[in-house]
Amino acid sequence: MSRLRTMFHSVAASVSGGLETRNSGLRVSMSFAALDDQALRQALEAAGWKYTRQRAAVYDHLCRVHGHPTAEEVYQSVRVDVPAISLATVYKALEALTASGLAAKIAAADGSARYDARRDHHYHLRDLRSGAVEDLETPFVPDLIDRLDPGLSQQLQGRGFKITGYRLELVGYFEGQTPQSPEPEDHEHDSA
Ligand SMILES: [Zn+2]
Repeated sequence: MSRLRTMFHSVAASVSGGLETRNSGLRVSMSFAALDDQALRQALEAAGWKYTRQRAAVYDHLCRVHGHPTAEEVYQSVRVDVPAISLATVYKALEALTASGLAAKIAAADGSARYDARRDHHYHLRDLRSGAVEDLETPFVPDLIDRLDPGLSQQLQGRGFKITGYRLELVGYFEGQTPQSPEPEDHEHDSA
């Protein structure tokens, strides 16, 4: 795997080590090791961002939290320990972490976003009703696109497009929680 400048979900370019680590396909969420403060500082600075205590707090939270919180949810949690932090600072921290390859931004169709500090390749499940995003405990298939369409990579390359990765997200909803509309739209928890 080459280093990727462009983030594709679940890949942290500058931090390797999490890839292809599962043997059985069984894997516990958050199985990656979070970077320590010094490594975090290095990763941020290597990408041209400053290390700050607030950014470290946001990163720590993202690494610990189960699920994929929105910026607002990160803010509500982190402010418990860092009362002085603002929502704007959280947004900036998430931008820094994302740009540094330390977190992935998972965008929804409605423009909302969730964040993920997990650095290994993995797939997601999205509940269209609640907007919740879960990790799927399914082995990652690096050459899935080639299997899907063997000529596609080359065809796109011919157009000057270099594939750096792919994302796979299963969408739907849990039975018993059927949405009222037959074609549910993504929606997130509203900001408080
Ligand atoms: Zn994830």
